[in-house]
This record gives sequence, structure tokens and C-alpha cells, in this order.
Amino acid sequence: MSSSGKPELPVPLTNLKIQYTKIFINNEWHNSVSGKTFPVINPATEEKICEVEEGDKEDIDKAVKAARQAFQIGSPWRTMDASERGNLINKLADLIERDRLLLAVNTGVNDGGKLFSNAYLMDLEGCIKTLRYCAGWLTRSRGVHTSWRQRWKLFTYTRHEPIGVCGQIIPWNFPLVMLIWKIGPALSCGNTVVLKPAEQTPLTAASCGIFNKRGRVPPGVVNIVPGYGPTAGAAISSHMDVDKVAFTGSTEVGKMIKKAAGESNLKRVTLELGGKSPCIVFADADLDNAVEFAHQGVFYHQGQCCIAASRLFVEESIYDEFLRRSIERAKKYVLGNPLTPGVNQGPQIDKEQYNKILDLIESGKKEGAKLECGGGPWGNKGYFIQPTVFSNVTDEMRIAKEEIFGPVQQIMKFKSLDDVIKRANNTLYGLSAGIFTKDLDKAITVSSALQSGTVWVNCYSVVSAQCPFGGFKMSGNGRELGEYGFHEYTEVKTVTMKISQKNS
Ligand code: ADP
Repeated sequence: MSSSGKPELPVPLTNLKIQYTKIFINNEWHNSVSGKTFPVINPATEEKICEVEEGDKEDIDKAVKAARQAFQIGSPWRTMDASERGNLINKLADLIERDRLLLAVNTGVNDGGKLFSNAYLMDLEGCIKTLRYCAGWLTRSRGVHTSWRQRWKLFTYTRHEPIGVCGQIIPWNFPLVMLIWKIGPALSCGNTVVLKPAEQTPLTAASCGIFNKRGRVPPGVVNIVPGYGPTAGAAISSHMDVDKVAFTGSTEVGKMIKKAAGESNLKRVTLELGGKSPCIVFADADLDNAVEFAHQGVFYHQGQCCIAASRLFVEESIYDEFLRRSIERAKKYVLGNPLTPGVNQGPQIDKEQYNKILDLIESGKKEGAKLECGGGPWGNKGYFIQPTVFSNVTDEMRIAKEEIFGPVQQIMKFKSLDDVIKRANNTLYGLSAGIFTKDLDKAITVSSALQSGTVWVNCYSVVSAQCPFGGFKMSGNGRELGEYGFHEYTEVKTVTMKISQKNS
């Protein structure tokens, strides 16, 4: 620990031997039924790290059977005291804390190109705190006594019950954080889980399997099946014996998941999808603060965040100065292998994303935005893209409308409050937004007017286990974390009893 109480950054482990590459069902490792495996690639070097067992429909069936068995009435999981379940979740947090360094290297640094410092200081910290929050919450979850009708001697109460077998499909940008955001609340509410990690970053999830085993979570409660989306993922969303699916990923796939749920057993669906988040800087803002948060808001993790502040609106009178400082800030990056100390920008996740980002950058140039810095690939190996800033961006350009998921900042000008609110809301998405101003009235007016699941004022990208997270419009359905997040993992049952006693 440093004197500030924050953990210090240790030296990363290099040449780590990959231990876990199999399917995790019933607390045991399995090969895929088909015998197939798939390669995991390091995006910084384009080299293969290892092969991982490739789950498909048959493997999902096996995992769902195990999860159903673990959910049977009378099973060790169903009969466990809430406090004991809380102890198990705390134990998971302890194990993750103990192996923090190992996991930091494995949590998407090698397979996902994440900076080691971000993984160790941000992702791991968030995961441990989220698990502890979930462990604490479950002892407080309760039903309520809703009515007592004297004349008829009717007494009604509600119970919050687990939903059942939860299918969880997660993306590659925060492999461990997304896994914990999914399994933490699901276990806290007493559900069982079949989780599919993204095909680009399956290694973290596999290591987490072992924590469940070591932490004595009963067999079948957490099952992890690596595999591809259209095969293993689709098998989850269309499964007749999965009671709920929770998904984080693209809006396009979110629609497929909702459709599959509707066409199968109408399982409950929660979706956390894409965004094209506005960040609005008024002329009275603290400029240093606004430049830095707006910058981090879009460049953090190479721009690969659903909340990326990728539409930056700056008030006309400070536009030129804001732009100058933003360009200066973007030029400071050191690109390279994310395990190397001093490097502060790693590669994009894969060739497909890399090509998509470069195509969008080209569209910006063609459509008349002014390229201020960057604008192309970097290095001769790995999927690196130069930090890029565009000015004179207008609302109809592709870079102002489409989710880029890359280190590309669009800076637009606005004249009035009414105008900027309209423009900020003129999108299919509604995940998050930022406002920078010292004027409280303006901050409250704009935050009320924005169609967005989260609004940050004079800061950006601040997420914590206590706060519900999710989107308006095509950014998703439902919320994760906070009290609202737990409701997404429970069914509410109303029980009404007729009481016979005359004197009650
Ligand atoms: P991204 O744009 O972040 O790659 P995707 O939506 O493509 O997001 O992927 C997020 C997760 O959804 C991954 O685990 C992926 O394998 C899975 N997935 C992709 N296609 C499907 C599908 N048709 N059905 C279910 N899951 C899918």
C-alpha cells in the first residue's frame, strides 16, 4: 500500500504459464463435446497465446443441466443460509485479492491488450469491491408485508426469490469486471449461472472457475463455457431451460438475444449495449478538469468502452483553447506492449475492430472533419492505432453517429443550451453523458433533459457497485448493480393467506 492507502503498482509477471483453458462445469474441467478448440491471440504481437476448448450447443446443454440440478429445491445451494452465501461470495473476493497480480496479467492484458496498470489498479479493485457489496447486500434483501385486510382476515406478503438458471454473455473489453458484475448479483440473489466469455478473452473466466471450486461454491452453481457468439452464445439465448439472459455487448447482438428469448421460452432479458455518449463543456467550466476528464472519457482503454465520451460538444467561446489543450494531451501517449512499464496505450482488441476504426477515421477525413493529430495505424506489428483528434466535426458525419470503440476524439462546437441538449439527445443510444459547468442550475437542467442512464457532472466514467448502471433507448434494458441491479435477478412472489383466528 502507498501512503495514500491506494495499492501500489507491482512489477507485472511476464511469461505467465496459462493454466486453465477448459470448460468449467460442475466444478470440473471438461473438454468440448465436439473436440474442437480455438486460438487465443495476443493483439499486441498478433501471436497465438494458446488454444482453448470451444464450447457449442452440446456443452451449453451440459452446463444448463448442471446449473438446473444445483438449483433444485433442497439442493445445497437452495438450502444455504443467506449469510453463508454471503461468506462464499466474500471468500471469492478474498481469493481474487490474494491472486490480484496473477489475475491482473490474465484479465485481458495478454489476450485483450489492456494496460497492466489499468487491470491491476482499476479492474481488480472494482471487482473485489463489487463482490463485497454483493456479499453484503444479500443479507439485507427482503420481502415486505404488503397488506392486512381486517374484514376478510387476509394477510399478504412478498418474497424475493431467485429467478433460476441465468445465462450470462459477456464482452472482451472488461473480461473480469463483466464477469463479476454478472455472477456477483446472480449468486447474491441465489441463482445459478452459465456464463460465456467473449471468444477474444476467455482466459480470465477460466481462471475464475477455479476460484469457485477453491471457494467451495457448490458444483453446478457457476459454469463457464468459452466459445463463439453465434454458436455457444446463441445456444444460451434460445435455450428452453435458461430462465434469464444477461448480456453486455453490441446493440446488434442485443437485438438477436432479445429475439431468441422471445422465440424460445420468453426468458427474462437484461441488456447493456452500445453508446455514443455526449460530453458537454460549457464556457464556465474548470478547463483543466474538463479537458482531462473528456480526454480520459474517450481514450481510456484505447477507446474500447461502451461509455466512451465520443461526442464532445464544446461551447463556442472556449472551443479553440479547449481544442489546443486536447490535442496537446492526446499527443502525450506512449504506445506499446501493455505489460511494459511507461506504456500508456495498448493495441485494439483484434484485426476486425482495428479495420473498423481505421475505416471510420478515413470516413471522418473524407466527410470534411479536420484531422488534428493521429489518424492512422502505429508500428509494424499488433493492432495499434495512433491517438486521433478531429475538430470541426458535424452531427451528420459517421464519426459523430457511429460507435467507434477506438482512440478517436470528435470535438464539436455549440452555441446555446437548448441547441446542445437537442443535439446531445439526437442519437439512438442513451447510455451515459457528461456535463462540465460551475453553474448548478445549468447542471441540474441539463442532467434532467439528457436521455441517458448515467450523467456525470464535472467528472466522467465514475462507476461503482452501489450505483445502478444501464441505458435508455437502444443502449439497453434493465440495470446492473446497485439495488436496481439485484431486482433484475429476483422474481417477486405475492403470498396471500387467509387467517382463521377470530381474535387476531
Ligand atoms: P463486441 O462488439 O463487443 O465484440 P458482441 O456483441 O459481438 O460485442 O459480443 C459480445 C458477446 O456476445 C461475446 O461474448 C460474443 O461471443 C457474444 N455473441 C456474439 N454474437 C452472438 C449471438 N448471435 N448470440 C449470442 N451471443 C453472441
